[in-house]
Amino acid sequence: MRQSQIFTKTAKNYPEGEEAKNAKLLIKGGFINKSSAGVYSFLPLGLRVLNKINNIIREEINELGAEELLMPALVHKKYWEQADRWGVDVIYRTGGKENSAGVMRREDFEYGLGWTHEEVISAIAKNFINSYKDLPKSVYQIQTKFRAESRVQGGLLRGKEFLMKDLYSFHANKEDLDSYYQKVISAYKKIFKRLGFEALVTEASGGAFTKEFTHEFQVLNPAGEDTIYYCDKCGFSQNKEIFNAASHKNCSGEIKSGRAIEVGNVFKLGTKFSDAFNLFYLNKDGVKLPVIMGSYGIGSTRVMGAIVEQYNDEKGILWPENTAPFQVHLLEISGRNQDKIGKIGTKIYNNLQKSGIEVLYDERNISAGEKFADADLIGIPYRAVISEKTGNKIEIKKRGEKKIKLVNEKEIVKLLKQNQQPRQ
Ligand code: ATP
Ligand code: MG
Repeated sequence: MRQSQIFTKTAKNYPEGEEAKNAKLLIKGGFINKSSAGVYSFLPLGLRVLNKINNIIREEINELGAEELLMPALVHKKYWEQADRWGVDVIYRTGGKENSAGVMRREDFEYGLGWTHEEVISAIAKNFINSYKDLPKSVYQIQTKFRAESRVQGGLLRGKEFLMKDLYSFHANKEDLDSYYQKVISAYKKIFKRLGFEALVTEASGGAFTKEFTHEFQVLNPAGEDTIYYCDKCGFSQNKEIFNAASHKNCSGEIKSGRAIEVGNVFKLGTKFSDAFNLFYLNKDGVKLPVIMGSYGIGSTRVMGAIVEQYNDEKGILWPENTAPFQVHLLEISGRNQDKIGKIGTKIYNNLQKSGIEVLYDERNISAGEKFADADLIGIPYRAVISEKTGNKIEIKKRGEKKIKLVNEKEIVKLLKQNQQPRQ
């Protein structure tokens, strides 16, 4: 992509009224735009990042054997009422008016904007799950969720509108749910590793659904809203709400506490929704039993905010390679020799693209200082500079490092290709 052509421009200053570091940097860099408190647009640069995050999640969840689908965001009141959740605080409810002929009733317009989809998926599953032969099954979506959150100072960490991957699983018995739950935990570990996090699998309360613990995936960061207690040695981790030092057994490690961002969670729902929606199956003996369910979320827009909170310095963002909008930022510093350097730049840009490398090519007619500052702000993992000084070579530097290497075109392609990590 040529930088002179992209829709956005970086801003000179940080946005006013934004407290969260992730929102400040992402808005300044032209990744997102604030529409209203807790509501953001993903601009072309930001959408590239979000799509990469979603694709990593998608690959690993597909690997689990779950199928992707898409449910409506507009969910009729009758669904929420069936599971007794029409009254919850976070839901946005719509209300309509009769038309002039008085034909439509107000009730026909009563919907809640989906803040989670257990109700809808249970109603759908009822059409397809009747027998033990239909189990287990699992489906997921990556979809916009709406929540009337009261505190939205966290930028992408807490939106009123945000993107979530929500996975739902259906089982014949508790043992099958338990083993699937462990598989999801393993898949989540892979996902968060690929996303650049060391996420701690943290025990938390099951709330209204289950007496068992649920598990949150927590990333230690001062911007987080949660407090967790954890041990570096044995991997013990509990949310403050349920922390009990006595449950840290058989380990000499010290318990520490810290703020953390919850990037995902896994939940054993049991039969709450299958009971509410009459989701039953017949076992081998023809006995009617409720389907056992699990639900599993990852907030992909929150993940994007969390990456920025984890990887930044005073100059801007430092995207990990897997989620960077581009792999390399090619800067053409042309000085007085614009035609000559421009020709070399175009040639390198075309060759990199042909080799399957994602390049942002800064061929704008602005000062070198401005280009360097933008490159640091946008935070693409590698910066490649060509100028009168570099001759046939290219100066390559990793974002966040000082060391500059002079390489030729073949070497830069080789280096960047090496960094295109395949799935493990
Ligand atoms: P929190 O305790 O942070 O409010 P939650 O327990 O309400 O999260 P879930 O309803 O289980 O979260 O949603 C699953 C995932 O969706 C969370 O782990 C998080 O990554 C993401 N998420 C939840 N609420 C928001 C929000 N308001 N903005 C962005 N992401 C969110
Ligand atoms: Mg919440």
